[in-house]
Amino acid sequence: MNDEVLEHLKDGIRKFRSEIYPPQAERFQRVMSEPQRPHALIITCADSRLHPDLLTQAEPGDIFVTRNIGNMVPQYGEMLGGVSAVLEFAVTAMQVEHIAVCGHSECGAMKALVDPETAEGMPTVKAWLTNAHAALAEAKKIQQWRRERGEAEGDLLNLVIEQNVLLQMRHVRTHPSVAMALESGRITISGWVYDIAAGTVAICEDNDEQFHPVTL
Ligand SMILES: [Zn+2]
Repeated sequence: MNDEVLEHLKDGIRKFRSEIYPPQAERFQRVMSEPQRPHALIITCADSRLHPDLLTQAEPGDIFVTRNIGNMVPQYGEMLGGVSAVLEFAVTAMQVEHIAVCGHSECGAMKALVDPETAEGMPTVKAWLTNAHAALAEAKKIQQWRRERGEAEGDLLNLVIEQNVLLQMRHVRTHPSVAMALESGRITISGWVYDIAAGTVAICEDNDEQFHPVTL
């Protein structure tokens, strides 16, 4: 059977081997000759349109990345698994100095929070989304406050995307390795919202709950 998808992937590997790798061979050999020491951990969504290396212009060895549906981090003690282990390893073994939680525009996971029918037939996804339920409640609360003040309530999906990033930043802090590193001033945490179509990123730093665009 001719597997077109695999062949397409192999074409990519061939292009990498023939055009991308040769001029950078020395760099790859250098970074592999010593233990990795990435400066930052980026927790982002699995969305195929989001390229964290491209976005941050990272080179091999610069960033440690973990991705999942909706850029979520279960609170410590709940669903201990891949994300929790990555956090602990990045902070304790690799001593990253920064943790960024990066959400994005048109996130399918956030859409499923707003409209649970889109997650019908996917019980595992539904269970995973419970890690962000509080963000939906917070976004609806913000809309209600705005309505009461006679202001425009704003787009629910965009509010959920922002509130989810803030919520996951709080979850990150519940992990003991992170809490200890924060106490000793060894790491900082930020939350990002990446608008993929516009190519812009807004960031909230430390305990600020406001997102500020990264300007040129
Ligand atoms: Zn997403």
